[in-house]
Amino acid sequence: MSIGLDCQNDLSDSIQKLNPKSKLFVLREAPQTLFPKLFKAWNVTHLVFERDTDAYARGRDLVVTELAKKAGVEVITRYGRTLWDSDEVVAKHGGKPTMSITQLQAAGNAVGDIPKPIPAPAHLPDPGDMPLDFEQDKPTTAGFDDLNAPHRSGGDNGDNTYRAGIAGMSGDFAVETLEELGFPAAAATTPHRGGETIALGKLDAIMADAEYTATFRKPQTSPAAFEPQSTTLLSPALHFGALSPRLFYWRARTVVDAYRGKGGPSKPPESLTGQLLFRDMYFAAQAAVGAPFTQTLGNAHCRFIPWHLPSKITATATTADEEAGAVDAAASNTSPYDVDSAQAERWFRRWAGGTTGFPFVDALMRQLRREGWIHHLGRHLVACFLTRGGCYVHWERGADVFAELLLDHEPACNAGNWQWLSCAAFYSQYYRVYSPVAFGKKWDPRGDLIRRYVPELAALDARYIYEPWKAPGKALEEAGVRVVGDGLGEGEEKGEGGTYPEPMFDFAERRGACLAAMKAAYSVGLHGDDERARDGTWREL
Ligand code: FAD
Repeated sequence: MSIGLDCQNDLSDSIQKLNPKSKLFVLREAPQTLFPKLFKAWNVTHLVFERDTDAYARGRDLVVTELAKKAGVEVITRYGRTLWDSDEVVAKHGGKPTMSITQLQAAGNAVGDIPKPIPAPAHLPDPGDMPLDFEQDKPTTAGFDDLNAPHRSGGDNGDNTYRAGIAGMSGDFAVETLEELGFPAAAATTPHRGGETIALGKLDAIMADAEYTATFRKPQTSPAAFEPQSTTLLSPALHFGALSPRLFYWRARTVVDAYRGKGGPSKPPESLTGQLLFRDMYFAAQAAVGAPFTQTLGNAHCRFIPWHLPSKITATATTADEEAGAVDAAASNTSPYDVDSAQAERWFRRWAGGTTGFPFVDALMRQLRREGWIHHLGRHLVACFLTRGGCYVHWERGADVFAELLLDHEPACNAGNWQWLSCAAFYSQYYRVYSPVAFGKKWDPRGDLIRRYVPELAALDARYIYEPWKAPGKALEEAGVRVVGDGLGEGEEKGEGGTYPEPMFDFAERRGACLAAMKAAYSVGLHGDDERARDGTWREL
């Protein structure tokens, strides 16, 4: 949330630098109801916006476009979120989703060269009068308990209308604050900040390191690296529109094309430009499939796999009572595949809370919860572990947790990558499973990521930090650690620090069970649009 506000404030500052009479004008109401009022009050002749292929956005934009037409307002749209216009990519791909980088590249090349970004404006016209002859919504988000609190730019004048931050205008038009949105400012735990100024500064620094940029190979970047991380961490800036993907692409291409180092530059899909192609691949796949892209049911391109807990159960219950309720609900699901649903629900909760008892998984999940970003290969590990490589829980449940926690959450990239990691779509080598122990050790033998995000284990000898349950009593004692409890608060003696949960299952055993179940699901071979997936007759197959 805070990163989005950073972006808006930074944009406002940049606009003011170009024209002190202007700024970013924020109105607080859904466009479907606000725009008809604005068209009239501001005598609007043109409406210009960026096209967005997310399902929700498509629906919203359709309504807004209709309203504009009715009001005699000309609508101009442009695409800017992706390298190529996703709808054009789909058209060149025969209306089908792009399910591989090769398909994306072929369709993209058929669309044409990736357009070069246009220069930023050097000046801006005055904004003109912007009277409001209607009352603007005040922020009403739950948690904002003082609706009459003064606003930052201008303040409340006491008669329920807002004063302008800039002379000649009515209305407040200020960027929201975290508090107004219902979050105390102190609640923001991420160190990552937003805004175009920061994003462009980061991009400059990355591109100045020609060796890094030109030889970037994603599989060789460490998921355990932090401060600095091993990849660009530009995804939140791309998500919030603070950085143009085409600017990123062409800056990287220029460095790559000029690179004369030993071995030459890296190439897609591993290279930096290849990463942006993956992004376009998921956007175009979503543009073709539409709303069902982010789920299994109704999605012809997503395998139907009878995961544990196919139904959604609220993920974040915290009290014992809520927890028991959710477990009961899960237990009432009696398909042969769901005999362990109550257990799987507990595994899901431990995964989401970073208390699985597998320290590398827990470190990543806690990093995600605290900071909103984890490395791509870290996402690989935790997504594989939740689905086909441990818990056998539905990928949609993991995607929901990511959607809530990621600073860079994109419906297309999130759902697409979850499908990839769960082998529901895009990728089918389900027998390649990440080990929650060996994978981390390979990158980070000393366990620095674990020490940072799982402080209970900070003093544990590196020999045991990935498997504390195997540590001799003396090593645990010296590190002040007790391996006890189920990670959901049961079995632990409250008030005694230094406890870390036992592993929630025997990984080798679960790996075998998951592989057998995946093999069976693949041999049945249903997809999300199959009626038998919807009506439950898959159970008889
Ligand atoms: P870099 O390695 O520096 O790559 C540069 C840019 O390329 C990224 O900023 C991103 O925009 C794009 N990119 C790189 N890899 C991918 C990829 N596999 N798919 C799509 N775009 C990619 N990325 C999101 O932007 N939003 C999401 O909601 C998201 N959810 C994911 C969920 C799972 C389960 C997994 C495995 C991956 C997900 N990713 C998502 C993709 C990827 O993990 C992030 O884009 C990347 O880690 C962002 O870090 P970075 O900017 O340092 O990436």
